[in-house]
Amino acid sequence: MSLPYAEVIGDPISHSKSPLIHKFWLDRLGIAADYRRAHVKAEGLAAYIESRRSDPDWRGCNVTIPHKIAVMDHVADPGGVRASIGAMNTIARGEDGALFGTNTDAGGFFAPIAGLDLEGRPVAVVGAGGAARAVLFALSKANVGPVTVLNRSPLKAMGLLATFGLEGSAKPLDAPLPEAALLVNASALGMTGQPPLDLDLSPLPEDAVVYDIVYSPLETGLLKAAAARGIETVDGLEMLIGQAAIAFSLFFGVAPPEGYEDELKALLTR
Ligand code: NAP
Repeated sequence: MSLPYAEVIGDPISHSKSPLIHKFWLDRLGIAADYRRAHVKAEGLAAYIESRRSDPDWRGCNVTIPHKIAVMDHVADPGGVRASIGAMNTIARGEDGALFGTNTDAGGFFAPIAGLDLEGRPVAVVGAGGAARAVLFALSKANVGPVTVLNRSPLKAMGLLATFGLEGSAKPLDAPLPEAALLVNASALGMTGQPPLDLDLSPLPEDAVVYDIVYSPLETGLLKAAAARGIETVDGLEMLIGQAAIAFSLFFGVAPPEGYEDELKALLTR
């Protein structure tokens, strides 16, 4: 008998931590199912989706670079993701078995800061790429105050503020930070192999939170600098696990088990 399974697709794909996360939860819940990596190149995406569409054991997939935009042409979009975030990171089956796409990055990003009182307070976001779109979409639903987006190309940042109907301004990376209650790094800066993100954190208030969605390394230079100033920090694994949790429920029909966060984080940082 074949097992139900889900996958993560991308090119490259060997680095993906998604199988570790989903298999950990499947094991803890005692669910007989699998979660695999599938190396899918851009030219093979349509054929991949067609082959899985008719496979009754396939519950869906997570989608990573370079397919997050192209995949939108192959699946239904009941949540209007194309017109909002503009990228899908999860494909699953609806009750009728048809494939639909969604984006769990916005929910995964917001989950660890849902308890913060950000209403009307200034926020700063570094980056204007795909991940920043999910971050800004989430912030646009959270009644935050003015949003300053710092990016290598401020014009791109300005476009995103308009897309998500956010008040605020677009600045180059060397602009001084505002007095932000929340600072998010949603750029590639600080990631292994990329230049560091050097910001002067002194304008941030004492109760600010600094959130770096980069998870390799987990303790980025930005988070180290924030911690040295006594500022609360949130690391990129929180979002990685949060987006996976929403996808897991869509694939397997149950929420991930609770109470294993530390064990899972230890596994992911080994
Ligand atoms: P992306 O679409 O390629 O965007 C990259 C962003 O970084 C852009 O704003 C880009 O600026 C900026 N950037 C890249 N190289 C730069 C450089 N040398 N100097 C200055 N700016 C530079 O990538 P993404 O998908 O948004 O991913 C961004 C980061 O988020 C990655 O580290 C990724 O691993 C992480 N991420 C984490 C999670 C999670 O669950 N924790 C989820 C998604 C992504 P320009 O706009 O000027 O090109």
